[in-house]
Amino acid sequence: MIDLKGIKKIYANGDIQVAALNGVNLHVGSNEFVAIMGPSGSGKSTMMNILGCLDTPSEGEYCLDGTDVAKASGDELAVIRNRKIGFVFQGFNLLARTTAIENVELPLLYAGVGSKERRARAITALESVGLGNRIHHRPKELSGGQQQRVAIARALVSSPSIILADEPTGNLDSRSSEEVMAIFQRLHAAGNTIVIVTHEPEIAEFTQRIVRFRDGHIEKDEIVENQRKAQ
Ligand code: ADP
Ligand code: ADP
Repeated sequence: MIDLKGIKKIYANGDIQVAALNGVNLHVGSNEFVAIMGPSGSGKSTMMNILGCLDTPSEGEYCLDGTDVAKASGDELAVIRNRKIGFVFQGFNLLARTTAIENVELPLLYAGVGSKERRARAITALESVGLGNRIHHRPKELSGGQQQRVAIARALVSSPSIILADEPTGNLDSRSSEEVMAIFQRLHAAGNTIVIVTHEPEIAEFTQRIVRFRDGHIEKDEIVENQRKAQ
């Protein structure tokens, strides 16, 4: 699914070069559920930007779902992103005046999917995150956990190869965090491939594998022995 080999990302800060990533090798198979951890500045955001085809590496190979993306142009990356990646953000990034179902339909609207199919697929996605009875609610009428579940439905609706979530529980209390992790566990059980960034060890324990970054490389890559089951 995901194959990264010898990935480097060098930023130039004036005369000083910063290696945000310095030789990363990572394989994520289909239907894995992975947490990326590591201190601030260790390269997590840079890694997520590359995984999500928002940015390309300075060096190295990235194969996503059979496509070589390391050397793709900006336009090609945009197409790959729309087809293959579902994004979930810390701050939900929902349109405030827009209902849950309209938020979830949006990626399909951009993809040119017709209105009937859009509606049907958005309802299915909202049902899969347990919000089949909230489809006409606006974000402010929903709890934080419910808003993040709408955002997850929006990420899912285009049937992406992989779901990438950057601190998906960062704005949530512990009960809502667990609610969101329960959804990810359910989606993982249904066959989805999911990579999240989190700095909370107790959130990482809901995944199956923890990849720890330090100073732009992978310091530790371990299976979660006693995976927490979210309620
Ligand atoms: P993390 O997400 O783990 O906090 P980042 O990937 O944001 O780490 O950053 C890794 C390193 O690369 C840091 O030293 C950061 O300052 C640097 N960096 C990240 N993005 C840029 C950029 N656009 N320009 C210059 N330096 C950057
Ligand atoms: P996070 O909380 O995810 O670690 P950061 O504060 O490290 O976020 O970075 C936020 C954004 O700013 C990222 O997109 C990162 O690439 C960029 N960035 C980080 N460090 C620098 C830097 N030194 N110069 C320019 N951009 C940076």
